[in-house]
Amino acid sequence: MLKGIGVFDGIGIGQAYIYEENEIVVKKGSKVSKEEEKEAFLEAQETFEKEISALIAQPTYELEKEQKEILLGQLTMIKDPELLDLIEAFISQENMSAAEAVERVCDQYIQVFLNSGDEVLCERATDVKDLKQRMLRILLGVAEERLDQFPEETILVAKELTPSMTTRLDLSKICGIVTETGGRTSHVAILAKLLEIPAVLGVSQATTKIKTKDIVGINGKRGEVFVSPNETQLNILKKSQEEYKQQQRELIAFKEKKAETKDQRPIILGGNIVGAKDTKKLLEYGASGVGLFRTEFLYMDRSTFPDEEEQFLAYKETLEGMEKKSVTIRTLDVGGDKEIGYLGIEQEMNPFLGYRGIRYCLGEPFRFKQQLKAILRASAYGKAKIMLPMVTSLEEVNQTKKLLDECKEQLEELGVPYDKDIKLGIMMETPAACVIADQLAEEVDFFSIGTNDLTQYLLAVDRGNKKVSYLYSVFHPAVLRSIHRVIQCGKEAGITVSMCGEAASLPILIPVWLGFGLTEFSVSPSAILQTKKILRSCDSKECIEIANKVLAMKESGQVAQYLESKCKDYYEF
Ligand code: PEP
Ligand code: MG
Repeated sequence: MLKGIGVFDGIGIGQAYIYEENEIVVKKGSKVSKEEEKEAFLEAQETFEKEISALIAQPTYELEKEQKEILLGQLTMIKDPELLDLIEAFISQENMSAAEAVERVCDQYIQVFLNSGDEVLCERATDVKDLKQRMLRILLGVAEERLDQFPEETILVAKELTPSMTTRLDLSKICGIVTETGGRTSHVAILAKLLEIPAVLGVSQATTKIKTKDIVGINGKRGEVFVSPNETQLNILKKSQEEYKQQQRELIAFKEKKAETKDQRPIILGGNIVGAKDTKKLLEYGASGVGLFRTEFLYMDRSTFPDEEEQFLAYKETLEGMEKKSVTIRTLDVGGDKEIGYLGIEQEMNPFLGYRGIRYCLGEPFRFKQQLKAILRASAYGKAKIMLPMVTSLEEVNQTKKLLDECKEQLEELGVPYDKDIKLGIMMETPAACVIADQLAEEVDFFSIGTNDLTQYLLAVDRGNKKVSYLYSVFHPAVLRSIHRVIQCGKEAGITVSMCGEAASLPILIPVWLGFGLTEFSVSPSAILQTKKILRSCDSKECIEIANKVLAMKESGQVAQYLESKCKDYYEF
């Protein structure tokens, strides 16, 4: 059995197809004049634009918006003045052929992105590789490999799947994806989740260990790949596949159902999104709104800062997409593990303790106000709320309020409409914010508990560090007590408290959050139906008993064990 990162639950069983991209070899030096090489480049650039435009217009299957954006990004990249200057310089000064210059410049970009160590920038490297491959193919007249002639039920195995390769795939025939590269936020991961195809990424040497026509079974939840599974393994996979399909069928019934407890206490169940495209799924699953719009994704995968107009349009599209339901827009949460190269944030020794979240926003007031104005303008088109990330002090809230007032004044002067009653809230994701939760609650309209960061900061444990990641536990009494305190402080001050970290949809903890008095949850779109199902099987009184028991416990392991055994006879999921 091979192991990798499972990015979409579900089981795929089928025949493997190993996709290997033909290596294009570029000869050194040029045999024609510099002018002819430049001409050849310009012609190739034109063909490139035509090919990509045709892909966008007539894809093998309907392109997802996300992929269109990637291809549009490549169209912008091929016209990027900096890239063109470098290519021209290599042709003029180093006597290179157009193909050699393209290869050299693209490789330089790829290296910079890969060396950044940042997952998102590494993805940009895949885009450049994709662009390079297409340009070289055009310049050297190499035919494009077909990717739409698989048999039904194919498990596609590749070193890497680039955005333009995925647009050529006939996905209706693919029942699983295995790649050697790619992480949870890679394009292929996004695609797999969007199209609901089981996928295991980061499987080392998959293309050599698996052969075309091998029978392969993959478990997308556990990140397992079985090559030529024996009868027992195959039977287990088939049984899990049936169970998974059955679970999904059962969950569909919850689309129409209300989010409420067994004793009919209403719960607000929203979704966490990264852009307007996610709103369709939220409405389909019956979400009550967007509890967390991670706006940093608008700033990623590009080379310049989006201006106010562009941001306004993105927020407006999201608000309109949610059909008047509430949308909580979090201001740019850059820094830590969310690096954006062009923002020019210096390398830091401790990025998680550095220039991130609200610190960056307040440190760049011009950019912060641009975002605030874009949100305010969009608020005229729906029910927008503003949320600040990584808050540690009251000063940060007050400084933001000052800037927000300035933005409102500017819009008033220009006669631009906005929601005058727009709510301002904060993420509760630092220990400092939890300790002064009572004071913060007096100054803001709502709290949203970010359990991902809160756990990391409370326990002083970098979850990316393998040596200590075993310490990262949301079951730790310090985490549970802090969350309990935040909910209580919010209640006392009469403000709403939501939870938007991953723990909000952790099945065995849902009764605990309800018992603490939490009435608002925000979870990833794919977790909405299951969360709704669990909420509907929870009785408020019983949840209070469970929560009190858990609060009295002294060890994470004890809490986890108790909840696991409790939920077995309490509700099924
Ligand atoms: C969190 O920290 O729990 C959270 C929701 O924010 P993010 O995961 O975007 O840091
Ligand atoms: Mg966070």
